Amino acid sequence: MSPAQGAQEAERRLGKPCFHVGQRVPGFFGCVACQFQIRNRKALPTCPQCGEIIWCYLDDGPRPVPEGEDPVQVPDPTAGQQPVKVEEGVDLGAPAAPVIVEEGVKLE
Ligand SMILES: [Zn+2]
Repeated sequence: MSPAQGAQEAERRLGKPCFHVGQRVPGFFGCVACQFQIRNRKALPTCPQCGEIIWCYLDDGPRPVPEGEDPVQVPDPTAGQQPVKVEEGVDLGAPAAPVIVEEGVKLE
């Protein structure tokens, strides 16, 4: 598993933004393995206590964007979509036969 995958995995598990060693992201971080806490300013280190490489972002607020990385793109739902194609005269098959309710039908 790559460090990036490990961070994603930890993020799913913890419900907090997680980053891995080498990402340049300032803030208050906790080691996901031993809870050792650091105030980070530059690139994230390996945990000085246990050697873990994944850090959980403990500050409040929006997910920080590591220096040199693009923010997570929120896909624009209108981008790249084909306009809705309206076709006329499409044969959708024969309409279902209307249900005919007959009363007083003798079954015998
Ligand atoms: Zn640790």
